Amino acid sequence: HSALQRVKVSGDAPYAIDIGPGLLADGARLAASLRGRHALIVSDGNVAPLYADALEQALRAARPELALARYVLPPGEHEKTLARFGECLDALARLGATRDASVLALGGGVVGDLAGFAAACWMRGIDVVQLPTTLLAMVDSSVGGKTAVDLPSGKNLVGAFHVPRAVYADTATLCTLPPRELRAGLAEVVKYGAIFDETFLDWLEAHADALLSGDDAVLAQAIARSCAYKADVVARDPYERGDRALLNFGHTFGHAIETEQGYAGATGDGLNHGEAVAVGMVLAARLSAALGMADEAHTRRLRTLLERFGLPTTIPAGLSPEALLARMRLDKKADASGLRFILWDRAGLARIVPGVADAAVLEVLAEG
Ligand code: ADP
Ligand code: ZN
Repeated sequence: HSALQRVKVSGDAPYAIDIGPGLLADGARLAASLRGRHALIVSDGNVAPLYADALEQALRAARPELALARYVLPPGEHEKTLARFGECLDALARLGATRDASVLALGGGVVGDLAGFAAACWMRGIDVVQLPTTLLAMVDSSVGGKTAVDLPSGKNLVGAFHVPRAVYADTATLCTLPPRELRAGLAEVVKYGAIFDETFLDWLEAHADALLSGDDAVLAQAIARSCAYKADVVARDPYERGDRALLNFGHTFGHAIETEQGYAGATGDGLNHGEAVAVGMVLAARLSAALGMADEAHTRRLRTLLERFGLPTTIPAGLSPEALLARMRLDKKADASGLRFILWDRAGLARIVPGVADAAVLEVLAEG
């Protein structure tokens, strides 16, 4: 594994994130993180046909006595429900999973969130090994231990903090990922540069073409650096009482856009999460400039990079500023003192700004 990268995440239960091509075929390495005799592979209807058989074979070869089962849910965010969560627990029951069993989450953020939550709850908590297959899951949702399902009344309303036993990000799986999903993941990669490190933005600008063409080694570097930024902030603030909130840069605006569109991203007639975050980051940069915090040159730079990655940077037509503002007031990140935003002083230096006046926000929204 010449191209293999490893990022360590410290905390009460430390773990490592391995990144590189071919990890899902490395049965011995994967089996080393399984403590017991039972493992449930959780995946979705797109990913399982592509990768679950090979994963099972690799595990059986390395650990013949392992009792393996599979739970496959239909693809899409609208399947991240309590009903599917219940089915996943039923699959653990049928397997006869004991307290040393493992859940293997093979898929994107939807699978990782649901499988992680099932692992958090089965017998009050068993191991989950995250096997992310989308760029978004590799750089964001598989790291840090947030797990959840959605309710009809909102996203991620029921969940738990449950850190994985290990994360294996097999970059070879990205070659089947739809290009639009790859670009969405790049939005979250840009986010790390925007909030923590201007030199990472320089690097992304220099490697934009390689990233877009799916260059494995360059993608692995981008994933490893992204995971390292996230690991760092999550170790400082595992339960989001402070700095971890910086990771929500672009997300207050982004979530408002997603909710206002009724999460239509999956069906193709709205923005997906990464795209909404791209627009949200530009809005956050513009709000920073409007409040006199940052120079507009930083906004232009961010916008140019996101556009190079084929991401949208303006609010989709038909969404009213007032409706978006109302959504942000309902966001669970808003508190009593008024709207709280993650803004920046410059590219690479974000901070939490409470009590932002409605008028300033409306003005930025009204300009698109
Ligand atoms: P995300 O990771 O972006 O939060 P999902 O879990 O919904 O979201 O994954 C996005 C879509 O991509 C889903 O339809 C999923 O089935 C599909 N998908 C995930 N990984 C792959 C892959 N490696 N190849 C092809 N399709 C994939
Ligand atoms: Zn996000």
